[in-house]
Amino acid sequence: MHYLPIPEPIAIEARTMMRDRFGHELHITKEKAPCRLCLRIPSVPQELILLSYQPLADRGPYAEVGPIFIHAAGCRPYPDVETFPVDFAARRLILRAYGSAGQIVDAVVARPGNAPERAAEFLSENRVAEVHVRHESYTCFDFKIVRAS
Ligand SMILES: [Zn+2]
Repeated sequence: MHYLPIPEPIAIEARTMMRDRFGHELHITKEKAPCRLCLRIPSVPQELILLSYQPLADRGPYAEVGPIFIHAAGCRPYPDVETFPVDFAARRLILRAYGSAGQIVDAVVARPGNAPERAAEFLSENRVAEVHVRHESYTCFDFKIVRAS
């Protein structure tokens, strides 16, 4: 499986234009929220940009738009895509499985450390194309999981 951050062009665009693809004017704030580009969760508040992001390709009503944070500067896309992002290991996480037509197939709340196993179960089904990982209570998008091939 591959653990994928948001595409880097989304972050570069937000940082340089200070506007997201949905027309929102962006600002830098200090937060401890996870960066969806490097997939690190700051232990102390760091400068982040909040923007709107649509994690699922727009093939129908399931393609939600929601808030995500990225570092305001100085980080690169999560490099170790074959490894579950360690900063998320202690969290209970929502996993949503989507099909290739953009429809939801299944969803579950995974207990801490159990997300890779649950994602593998989803991705063992042909009808599942990708799994989205989200915060358990805020439900914001964190990253996606796809088959390695
Ligand atoms: Zn970052």
